[in-house]
Amino acid sequence: MDLKNLDLKYIIVFNDYLEKYLDFFSTVEDHEYKYITINSKELNDLIKYIENVERENLLIILSYDLFKIDFNFDIKKFFSVTYNISNPHLLVINPVFDELKEDKTVDKDQNFYYHLNDSDADKRDDSSFYFFIKMIFNRMRDISRLDNYIINSFRTIIDSEIMKKQKHEIEKLYKELAILSKTDYLTKVLNRKAFFESMELEINRTIRNKERLIKKFKKKNPNNSSPVLYKVKFSCVMIDIDHFKKVNDTYGHIAGDQVLKELGILLRSKKIFRNNDIIGRYGGEEFIIILPETDAQEAKIPSERLRDEISRINFKNDKGEVFNICISIGISEFNDLDKSNIDIINRADKALYYAKSHGRNQTIIYEEVF
Ligand code: GH3
Ligand code: MG
Ligand code: MG
Repeated sequence: MDLKNLDLKYIIVFNDYLEKYLDFFSTVEDHEYKYITINSKELNDLIKYIENVERENLLIILSYDLFKIDFNFDIKKFFSVTYNISNPHLLVINPVFDELKEDKTVDKDQNFYYHLNDSDADKRDDSSFYFFIKMIFNRMRDISRLDNYIINSFRTIIDSEIMKKQKHEIEKLYKELAILSKTDYLTKVLNRKAFFESMELEINRTIRNKERLIKKFKKKNPNNSSPVLYKVKFSCVMIDIDHFKKVNDTYGHIAGDQVLKELGILLRSKKIFRNNDIIGRYGGEEFIIILPETDAQEAKIPSERLRDEISRINFKNDKGEVFNICISIGISEFNDLDKSNIDIINRADKALYYAKSHGRNQTIIYEEVF
């Protein structure tokens, strides 16, 4: 591409109805402007004269008569297709009437207009038109700068909107992934790893709370040397489906999965356990729940409700066979001697084993039988 040609300013005059003023227009012919006179029929020939042009360097002069018969649309189409200029600047000339002033369609689309008198035909040496053209090119350059500024501003806004949206999407995916990595695929409760992480947090929180309360008590009662009894409460509930192997063997694995899924729904439903209870899948058909600020007796209430609810569900396999299941539950509560979460889990497990070996389908509290 010839850069020099890009800088050149083109003035194209369609001479239809303007023949006698051509000398007048040609006063603008100098090194700065390339001046082309052409007939409206030769529009497509322009391609021979102009290799490349920017909108701000192009001015098309045509008579108002030509404008009125919508030749400006032909011009637009030609420049749009050939030079990618969809809306070239027009200078509309009205040699006779004043009606141009009233015509709002001329003013539209950043066009210009100029009135000529008959006497102008003889003004070959008049430089006023030259300055008028100079002013138009300056104006076109300003328009172009403003347009570019507006376009760039919009682009910046759009870019930042896209980025905002992408950021939002990534954050959403990240959250979904975080949830997914913590959730058991079948029952949608916490998986084993996530459960232990949450349990650890809960125990630490409980112990911190207790220490804080003891400190507060001692500060308020500095002379009281008796041991402070702030019982920290939380319970552990272990659940195991009774004779689940038999369920699988009799009604099929898919029916077995359905049982686990239903149990997951019940465990997560707010009608049994509370929002801050920590519910996890401990193993195949075993579940574990930590109930903060709850002792064993209090934990037994939702546990029994769960046992009751699940026993009422009529499961159906693909053969249409209906069956019911029951569960055994072991409960333990945190005690001050517990060194880690394994201690409380072990006691719940022992209570569960006791429930299994004493007839199943029941809830046993460790502290009541051992
Ligand atoms: P008990 O009453 O003593 O608990 O008897 P049980 O048959 O439930 O106990 P056992 O530990 O012998 O068997 C557990 C069964 O759970 C074995 C296994 O096939 C089944 N199981 C474990 N995970 C899944 C699972 O994701 N889907 C299905 N369908 N079955 C599972
Ligand atoms: Mg088991
Ligand atoms: Mg079982």
